[in-house]
Order: sequence, then C-alpha cells, then structure tokens
Amino acid sequence: FLSGKSLKVFVAGHRGLVGSAVLRRLISLGFKNLLTRSHSELDLTRQSEVESFFFEERPRYVIICAAKVGGIYANSTFPVDFITANLQIQTNVIDAAYRCGSVIKLLFLGSSCIYPKFAPQPIPESALLSAPLEPTNEWYAIAKIAGIKMCQAYRIQYSWDAISAMPTNLYGPNDNFHPENSHVLPALIRRFHEAKAKGAEKVVVWGTGSPLREFLHVDDLADAILFLMDRYSGAEHVNVGSGKEVTIKELAELVAEVVGLKGELVWDSTKPDGTPRKLMDSSKLATMGWAPRVPLKEGLAETYRWYLENVVNKQ
Ligand code: GDP
Repeated sequence: FLSGKSLKVFVAGHRGLVGSAVLRRLISLGFKNLLTRSHSELDLTRQSEVESFFFEERPRYVIICAAKVGGIYANSTFPVDFITANLQIQTNVIDAAYRCGSVIKLLFLGSSCIYPKFAPQPIPESALLSAPLEPTNEWYAIAKIAGIKMCQAYRIQYSWDAISAMPTNLYGPNDNFHPENSHVLPALIRRFHEAKAKGAEKVVVWGTGSPLREFLHVDDLADAILFLMDRYSGAEHVNVGSGKEVTIKELAELVAEVVGLKGELVWDSTKPDGTPRKLMDSSKLATMGWAPRVPLKEGLAETYRWYLENVVNKQ
C-alpha cells in the first residue's frame, strides 16, 4: 500500500474525526490520487448512488471512516439512525467495492463498544461475541459487528482482502464538541473553556471521576490504519489503543491545566459513570511493530488549540 502512492484511494467519511486524520496522513506521505466525496455529493446510505460511484471511479484502495456516531445520549434516543444508517453505509460500500472489481484492499473501522459489557481487561480481539453487549449502544455495536463479519465473509468466499481495525476512545481535531451529545474529552474542553471565559468558581464534571479510560489521538489511529493497510491481511480485526489509562478525575485535572481553568471541579454523582474500565489489549498490533506516538497532554493541548481556532473563533 505505502509503495503505491499514485494508486487511487477512496476515503469514505473524509470530513469526520477519523477520515480527516487519515486524509492528512495520506497527503503528508505523498499520496497523489485521493478520492473523496462530501455527504451532499454522495449519500452512502443510497445503494444505487454508491454503486454508480464505485463503477465510475474504480478506486484501488478503500478506507471506510464514514459512520453515524454519537455518545450515550444520542445512541439511546435515536436507535434507528444508529443501526440502519450504519448497516446501510457499510453494506453499500463493502459490496460495491468488491463488485466493481478494481479494489485490491479495503479497511473497515469498528469501535471498542463492540465488545461485551463485562469483557476481560485489557480486552483482547477474541472477546468479540463472547457475552452480551452494553445495552445503551447495542444498535451501533451490532451494525459494527456485522461490518467486521462482512469483511470476513468476503475474505472467505472471494479471497478478497478486507480487514477491520478496532480503535479505542479517540480524540483530536474535528471531534464533536456538542455540550450534551459529545464524549467526555471534547465535553470537558468546551465546558472548562466556557467556565474560564466566565470566571466561574465551580465547574461540574459528571460521575465520580473514578472510571478508567484509554485515549488515543486520532493522528495515531490514522498512522495505524495506514500501517495495517500496508502490512496486515488477516481475517481477525485488530485493536488499536494507546495502552495508557487515566481516571476521569486525572483527565479532568489535565484538561483544566491545559485550558488554564482556575475554578474548582465539582463531581455530579447523579450522572452515570458508565463502565468502570475500558482498556483494549493492543498487543497484536504492537507485535507487528506499531506504537502510538502522541502523549495525552500534548494531544490535549493541540486539540484545545484546534477548538479555539475552529469552534470558538467561528461562533
Ligand atoms: P464512555 O467511555 O462510553 O463511558 O463515554 P463518555 O466519554 O461519554 O464518558 C466517559 C466517562 O466520563 C464517564 O464516566 C462519564 O461519566 C465521564 N464524564 C465526566 N464528565 C463528562 C461530560 O461532561 N460528558 C461526558 N460524555 N462524560 C463525562
């Protein structure tokens, strides 16, 4: 993959958190034939549009970063959107990519929520489908599991090189900074920034602060995706994590430091903690020779700068 920089690569979902990072990385490595379509140009939930696109454009590589994503609140309020849109996007793209005949390799992205609610920690790839899921996001998880299984099915039946990567909690530029619907890291950046601007003495953080979470900068994921496109051709999905856990309390203190918040943190224990721990076992990828590079504090500072330039300045 890395030696064919003039071959056509389609990045589906290039405006999102992951897709935009993959695009930046491909450009910085000198890839010259990148194919993208915005949502208004190509609706990936429409089978006939996706088919016409693939048969006309005939890409050589496909990286699927397009998905309907959201936090716990959005998942439980809009289950249809999460199961139906994701099944449509991935089925249309995977099937058309295979049938158009030009695609050498495809990568599909899952998420750590595909694993059972009470999976062993750190979570190995083999934990998939070994026990029940967390009910709040099972709509999304079931769709993502189906995508992984589709890649395996095309590999078995047609010997087609479709692989899947399973990222841990991600953060970085182009994240969703919505006050209620976003994940903890962008939510805290926004809340702490707004509290600092108002000179607030107290700032609320959800839960008890004790849950442990693993965070990976999206540039590291982009690097891992291209590494897997280049080196991996297996049926089993591959976990991509940083291997570093922090408590939500440690995370909140770090965000406060980066943002320059002086106010006191107040823990609202009426809000859910969620799962106590969620750490991926990324030893399979490490054994292949890949390691993450962005330290959390550095990544946070860069994400805060992006937020200031692209969200605050445009309000
Ligand atoms: P999860 O990893 O699927 O549980 O997703 P989240 O990123 O939404 O939440 C992670 C942890 O951060 C949970 O323990 C939340 O209670 C905690 N948390 C603290 N403050 C916030 C906040 O403002 N927003 C969110 N989403 N989570 C928060």
